[in-house]
Amino acid sequence: ELERQLESDSEPGSTKDGHTIDLLANIGTAADAKRAAAYTDGHVVAGSGLFRTEVLFLDSSNAPSVEAQAKEYRAVLEAFEGRKVVVRTLDAGADKPLAFATQPDEENPALGVRGYRSARLHPQLLEDQLEALAQAARDTGSFPWVMAPMIATVTEARDFAAAARRHGLSKVGVMIEVPAAALRARQILAEVDFVSIGSNDLAQYTMATDRLRGELSDLLDAWQPAILDLIAATATAGQESGKPVGVCGESASDPLMALVLTGLGVTSLSMSAGAVPAVRFALRHHTLEQCRQMAQAVLAAATPHEAKNAVVELLVPEV
Ligand code: PEP
Ligand code: MG
Repeated sequence: ELERQLESDSEPGSTKDGHTIDLLANIGTAADAKRAAAYTDGHVVAGSGLFRTEVLFLDSSNAPSVEAQAKEYRAVLEAFEGRKVVVRTLDAGADKPLAFATQPDEENPALGVRGYRSARLHPQLLEDQLEALAQAARDTGSFPWVMAPMIATVTEARDFAAAARRHGLSKVGVMIEVPAAALRARQILAEVDFVSIGSNDLAQYTMATDRLRGELSDLLDAWQPAILDLIAATATAGQESGKPVGVCGESASDPLMALVLTGLGVTSLSMSAGAVPAVRFALRHHTLEQCRQMAQAVLAAATPHEAKNAVVELLVPEV
């Protein structure tokens, strides 16, 4: 019953006192986009905060043509009709191998040529993708946001922004998922229109722990103080620059963490569509000030356990 009630909720994501947080879906295909856009009659999800475009091409042996890509992007943009869509450029790499872009013989693939770095070896791949997205945007009359994964430096952010803008894409951002980028978030934000924190990889690289190693999952816990410090630094940089800072990793789907991220100054949360109702419910029952108090308590905690407990103690009773 509660679940049905949560899912038929048609209010935009916001705190009890009306501070808006965009609640968005992570998608990988046009079929995902249609499902997420229609999720409980299209009321629940404000758009997509992470379109993982590499998912479209996991089975392709050759680089997809501009036309083939434009067709897929059109389908996704049409599914969300005017809602926000954040398209991520190809993130080929260790956990998402693409036959035409992944280096076969890397000893440390997670630290190798992946994400935006693929453009060093395959510059035309990025150019084609930006052109295909620009075409799809024109064809559908929409204004997708575009972002690059695995950015480590200000120079990479600057170069990516220049490339995207050359194609006429006007909302350009980068992912913050490498600690070096989080530490320089202020300078990176000076080059782009928005950033989005990838908490999965940010955890992996901050904690020097393979994100696929289940037996080390305690180190990858998003409540680890070091990870939260980097998220806080990025969110603060966003507030100071007046530019949006999203979170699109798994941690955005944890209702308690969503309260903390909101308190830290994050402006949107992207997750699997099914996680949206519970996050919306948690936000609705807390004011921005309460979220800020939770964020402060979390930053003062010494361990993941203490951090989470600090939030539980500050939850309003009816939740
Ligand atoms: C992340 O790293 O948190 C992220 C959202 O990207 P992916 O999981 O696709 O690497
Ligand atoms: Mg990532």
